Amino acid sequence: MDWSASTPPILNIVVPCYNEEEVIGETIKQLSVVMVNLIQSKLVSPSSLIMFVDDGSRDRTWELIEHHHLINQYVTGLKLARNVGHQNALLAGLMAAKEQADCVISIDADLQDDLGTIEKFVVEFHKGAEIVYGIRQSRESDTFFKRNTALGFYRLMARMGAKIEYNHADFRLMSKRALMQLEKFKEVNLFLRGIVPLIGFKTVKVQYDRHERFAGESKYPLKKMIGFALDGITSLSVTPIRIVTLAGFLFFIVSLLVGVYIIISKVSGTTVSGWSSLMASVWFIGGIQLVSLGLIGEYIGKIYKEVKHRPLYIIEKELTAASKEMGQS
Ligand code: UDP
Ligand code: MG
Repeated sequence: MDWSASTPPILNIVVPCYNEEEVIGETIKQLSVVMVNLIQSKLVSPSSLIMFVDDGSRDRTWELIEHHHLINQYVTGLKLARNVGHQNALLAGLMAAKEQADCVISIDADLQDDLGTIEKFVVEFHKGAEIVYGIRQSRESDTFFKRNTALGFYRLMARMGAKIEYNHADFRLMSKRALMQLEKFKEVNLFLRGIVPLIGFKTVKVQYDRHERFAGESKYPLKKMIGFALDGITSLSVTPIRIVTLAGFLFFIVSLLVGVYIIISKVSGTTVSGWSSLMASVWFIGGIQLVSLGLIGEYIGKIYKEVKHRPLYIIEKELTAASKEMGQS
């Protein structure tokens, strides 16, 4: 599709929010400025919108969204019935946004991602890109721990054969066409960063600098991060299961060799074997078995969830451009 200044594409910026009352006002202010500039330079249509997805916040986030919806023509909202996590909240927003927009940009609510990059995304979309990834150039603002655990995670994922973009979080542009394909991925264990590259189409990367969180705390404590990484690995790769199988074979061969050794010692009369070495091996093999069982359980757990086909999110309320007009009349 060729976009021109007379018929620019409709953009929808999707922002998942969980307990973001401290930042949301500022985020709305800054995103609105970006939106006005994009519209004035005729890069996007005047009917472009910003959609805030409230992921079951327990603070005043939704109230603030409703308030700004009434006074700001670009602000729309989607309230999820409960907290379903960043990835599902984002999906809810993307699926709702694609109904109305030609391209959708996802961005976090905390202003860590550079807003100046949004224009670069749109320019790439004009040039024909269907997916534009924001790649973090520097992560100086993240802690040493977060930087290194993230690096380790990307390396591990690459080793396991999962194609994910290095240093890309969920700051990206997707065309309506790409989003319609995303909808076909019916998995419940959603890891968007791993799924989006599977779509294909023309893809472009744009570098940007990541800032500090504007206010509030990270909603991703260590426990959630580990869960997220484990979900990512097990929903994209079967390598862990293969490693378990290989280890199983290896232990089988070792146990055969040990058997031969025992027979030889018996025949040669040196039968007093050490209790400690026996115990050590029992523990060792017991440990390996437990790890393997745990991993297999992880996959079975996933299958269990997939077969249930539960909805990923439930929308409680929707504030659209049309709903505002109705409310005002
Ligand atoms: N978020 C969400 N649901 C959650 C946790 C987080 O919608 O259960 C949102 C959060 O409001 C933010 C984005 O996801 O807009 C990224 O979260 P955060 O900035 O806390 O993560 P970090 O940048 O520390 O990885
Ligand atoms: Mg953040």
